[in-house]
Amino acid sequence: MSAVIDAKGIWRIYETGSVRTPVLKGVSLCIQRGEFVAVMGPSGSGKSTLMNILGCLDKPTAGTYLLEGLDVSTLSDDDLALIRATRIGFVFQSFNLLPRATVLRNVMLPLLYTDVPVREREPRAWRALLSAGLDESLFSHRSNELSGGQMQRVAIARALVNDPAIIFADEPTGNLDSATGEMVMKTFRHLQQAGKTIVLITHDPEVAAWADRTVHIRDGHLLTDEQERALEAASVAKAEEAIS
Ligand code: ADP
Ligand code: MG
Repeated sequence: MSAVIDAKGIWRIYETGSVRTPVLKGVSLCIQRGEFVAVMGPSGSGKSTLMNILGCLDKPTAGTYLLEGLDVSTLSDDDLALIRATRIGFVFQSFNLLPRATVLRNVMLPLLYTDVPVREREPRAWRALLSAGLDESLFSHRSNELSGGQMQRVAIARALVNDPAIIFADEPTGNLDSATGEMVMKTFRHLQQAGKTIVLITHDPEVAAWADRTVHIRDGHLLTDEQERALEAASVAKAEEAIS
């Protein structure tokens, strides 16, 4: 098996003025190719901080991170930008589309930063949109004419268009009603069946249930599902003891 993500002892300490805020305190996470992993944790626990590091948008204060076997700490900013553009796809809660550009243009945008020949760009965008489950009749619409669920499919297609090794989705259903959110999660499931590695960030257990495996961020540490459940059971037992 080959690990797409192999992070060991990752720390991230934010410094604002004289205030140091340690958010990640020695997090280790290994994700194999083709895995679908959910990262859970309450608001402010460091989910986005972790995604930014794993997605090469930010650097850890300490620790080592191998992405597809490559130690990212040795890479220049240009190399990192190239890796982000070609090996990683991002999907965000707020879609982040260009509102006045057409669906096709939005999806072709990441190809501008690659050496994919111009004549191959539109067919690629077309294929990505079909994999993301968007109806062909919408491809020439402006993105601001679409519903939230359709916009998120366009964002997924844009994340897919460079055929990345891994897709990071940060609260991708956060702005969708539950039925639409479920359709989007089914799309991620299909992508995984097609061999993609997916890291899904969510605070919603129903959304996390779509993944094969869930990890939890708590007080700067990463816990497995089993560890999280044991901690919860212990705190419930303690609370019951206190009131009895
Ligand atoms: P989550 O995504 O789980 O809600 P974040 O990773 O966004 O959490 O934030 C974790 C903590 O780090 C929060 O307390 C937040 O205020 C703080 N934080 C995030 N980004 C920065 C930053 N750039 N500078 C200082 N503090 C930050
Ligand atoms: Mg966040």
